[in-house]
Amino acid sequence: MDQTLAGRTALVTGSTSGIGLGIAELFAAAGARVMLNGLGTPEAIAAARARVAEASGGAEPPVSQADLSTAAGVRAMCDDARAALSRVDILVNNAGIQFVSPVVEFPEEKWELILAVNLSAAFHATKALLPGMLAQGWGRIVNIASAHGLVASPFKAAYVAAKHGVVGLTKTVALEVAETQVTCNAICPGFVRTPLAEVQVTRLAEQHGVSEAVALREHLLAKQPSKRWVEVEEVARMALYLCGPGSGAVNGAALSIDGGWAAG
Ligand code: NAD
Repeated sequence: MDQTLAGRTALVTGSTSGIGLGIAELFAAAGARVMLNGLGTPEAIAAARARVAEASGGAEPPVSQADLSTAAGVRAMCDDARAALSRVDILVNNAGIQFVSPVVEFPEEKWELILAVNLSAAFHATKALLPGMLAQGWGRIVNIASAHGLVASPFKAAYVAAKHGVVGLTKTVALEVAETQVTCNAICPGFVRTPLAEVQVTRLAEQHGVSEAVALREHLLAKQPSKRWVEVEEVARMALYLCGPGSGAVNGAALSIDGGWAAG
């Protein structure tokens, strides 16, 4: 692995699992000093730290277990990151949750929680860490949105609203930093093979009385023309591109990585 991010520091939210963990591993392998964040059992967090240490060939990374559903939690994580890394060059807003229900039955507390974790946390972290990036003259903010930041699906009102909001936040921040060496971009994945998405296959198989293979192809991936999962490493490589050399003119973009979904 090249050392594309040698000398850089990165805070990746929601990096105890799935896409965030994949990004943390790839960034560590590329030479960045990484701070993890996320929820999970002590065993899961220890396993995530061990994977990132193995990727870097160095020490285990610091971790913040702050709950990002509150502004205070996000600010505590940012304070911890500045203390552990001394500065934050790269912020990846990745933590996210899902809940599926018809809008008329959508529980209010689920709406509030999804908006808080999937959208407001990105705002609070950007507000806390962007001043340091501007002061040091370089920074990267990568927001993990979704194909659902560009197009909708039924029964995902909060998630779709939050992810469209993330794309809007991304564009606004990008315009505010456009004349600086800081960029802000969104990545819009289709279905990626992670715990968050795999539970939806199980649910769809039960709901339609079909095997998980049929549920995956005919139901979950109905809108994903490639008919295959996007892999975590593919998303991580897009994030690495946005944070590496040569991507400084990419700003305010919502980059699809969805097997053709948003083209339809
Ligand atoms: P995941 O469930 O594997 O990981 C989610 C991470 O977020 C975990 O580390 C979890 O601990 C953390 N998290 C959740 N709630 C939190 C909270 N309140 N405070 C702090 N951390 C919290 O999910 P994933 O599939 O890797 O998803 C990561 C991101 O990618 C999410 O924003 C998701 O919306 C987005 N995304 C996923 C897919 C997909 O198909 N998997 C597709 C498009 C976008």
